[in-house]
Amino acid sequence: MNDKIYGECFCGKIKYSLLGPLKPGRCCHCSKCRKAFSGAGSAMTFVQDNSFEWVRGEEDLKVYANQENIGLGFCSTCGSSIAALKGREVFGITLGTLNDDPEVIIKEHIFVGSKASWDHIGGTSPCYDEFPTDD
Ligand SMILES: [Zn+2]
Ligand SMILES: [Zn+2]
Repeated sequence: MNDKIYGECFCGKIKYSLLGPLKPGRCCHCSKCRKAFSGAGSAMTFVQDNSFEWVRGEEDLKVYANQENIGLGFCSTCGSSIAALKGREVFGITLGTLNDDPEVIIKEHIFVGSKASWDHIGGTSPCYDEFPTDD
């Protein structure tokens, strides 16, 4: 499969595309991701083939960045978390904003040692207290 995959925010103002197949994703259950993604944590995959493109609404993207200029981009209208950025360069996307079924798998759960007490992880992917040791 080498088709275009699309994703968009809750209100639809921002839309992006990239080429499949997607790299395996990762769920992070740390307290920062819970706040940033307003849920059990984050589910993201890395974009490494330079195929990422904004289809529309890039001007509506707001970025909340740290001192290293690594940030989380979200829709300024509906608040959906869409992408991880270094400056204006997108290096990760949130699995929750993908349209249809992108056939992505979760390869691992990280920071499970600090997950919320109500967070019950399903599936058979490996869980790590923090980062996997080979990272
Ligand atoms: Zn939106
Ligand atoms: Zn995290």
